[in-house]
Amino acid sequence: MHLQALLCVLAACYESAITLNAKSDEQKGDGKDVTPLLLVSFDGFRADYLEKYPLPNLQKFISDGVLIDHLSNVFTTKTFPNHYSLATGLYAESHGILASRMYDPETGKVFTIHNSSDPFWWNEATPIWVSVQNCNYKSAAAMWPGTDLMIQNRTSTYFLKYDSKVRFNERLDNLTTWLTGDKLVKFAALYWEEPDNTGHIYGPENTTMMAKVLKEVDDHVGFLMDHLNQTGLWGKINVIITSDHGMVQCSQDRLIKLDDCVDRSSYVLVDTTPVAAIIPLNDSLDLYKKLSNCNVHMKAYMKAAIPDRLHYRNNKRIQPIILVADEGWTIVQQGNFLRLGDHGYDNSLRSMHPFLAAQGPDFRKGYRMNTINSVDLYPLMCNLLGIPEMPNNGSFSNVRCVLLREKCSDLAAVVGIVIGALIVLTTITLLFRLLKNREHSSSRPFARLELEEEDDDEPLLE
Ligand SMILES: [Zn+2]
Ligand SMILES: [Zn+2]
Repeated sequence: MHLQALLCVLAACYESAITLNAKSDEQKGDGKDVTPLLLVSFDGFRADYLEKYPLPNLQKFISDGVLIDHLSNVFTTKTFPNHYSLATGLYAESHGILASRMYDPETGKVFTIHNSSDPFWWNEATPIWVSVQNCNYKSAAAMWPGTDLMIQNRTSTYFLKYDSKVRFNERLDNLTTWLTGDKLVKFAALYWEEPDNTGHIYGPENTTMMAKVLKEVDDHVGFLMDHLNQTGLWGKINVIITSDHGMVQCSQDRLIKLDDCVDRSSYVLVDTTPVAAIIPLNDSLDLYKKLSNCNVHMKAYMKAAIPDRLHYRNNKRIQPIILVADEGWTIVQQGNFLRLGDHGYDNSLRSMHPFLAAQGPDFRKGYRMNTINSVDLYPLMCNLLGIPEMPNNGSFSNVRCVLLREKCSDLAAVVGIVIGALIVLTTITLLFRLLKNREHSSSRPFARLELEEEDDDEPLLE
């Protein structure tokens, strides 16, 4: 805790030095020039819902701002790890919220989504709302995971205690009251449980139910824009709408049954599907071999061999063996099918990716990017708020072009200009040659004949 605070102070000094040296276009620091930021997450909003369903309000929001089609999110593609990555810019192995169920081997503590309030689990990182407060601003939050907990000894300045029954409008209304009533509130975070819940119950391929819930989500976006308008915040704050992960269809026909492969007495199952965490009780290598050969749709990894690209190895809460199901497959012990839609799979799968849209005074309008890493959002938000970044896995340079004040050459525009210039040059050259030929042919009607004569090595008449 003290180390984190010290780091923030040092980072703040460093940032101040850079700001003084670089004299960036906007001087930030006293809070007057800092545009407040509202971060909104609609849980489980798979990126391609945007293409498959009519979402008029969200499309309106996007048309006047920025759209990033795919966020490459973090493994495991679960709710808590990814929301904490958005707020810290860290991979799960670095911020410590690794899954929905965790076991800490040193303390024997257990983390579940219903038993997650012990600061012990969260204190390996400093979320942005705490950094905001460390820089003498205030933060406000409505149900964003972690904001109502004591992390680094602080909750969000203003917050609602998590309660899934609190309606969207009420959550937003609290935030706008805090944003308008206290000018020091520079960061606000809003969380909504859909379309994740519906995606789990019916599966994303149930287009009737998904269309229904996505219409509700879109209505919430419409309400958000109206409400910000009415409270005078629209156009004066930056708004980012994003999500934590996608969703994929599961099936009773795609079950991986651990009981078919290993004896339950040989291991402890910490987390189940689609990434199972296993603590071997006897011969770990023997257990690993059996699990490796259990099902072609499941990969088993000894902790040390977990691929680098997953960034999921360097934390004591990662168990000795992890099992990763293929897309749409479910890992169970005995065969009880769990749910029709799920997430948590390999973060390279596009079905696991959410989108990101942004709009406000600092964002470009009508700007589109294909993809960024979800950990890049954190440095972007720090830049918007003029606060120092804590050490993180993101990169501002990956995402800076969404900002109006950044000078970025649009590749498509550059290519267009080059092609245009080539066409003009070619046209001029052709015209020039044509004119020259005409001139040639009109003044010298026998040019061809003369040319032939000129070509002759030994002209007769000279
Ligand atoms: Zn989620
Ligand atoms: Zn979920």
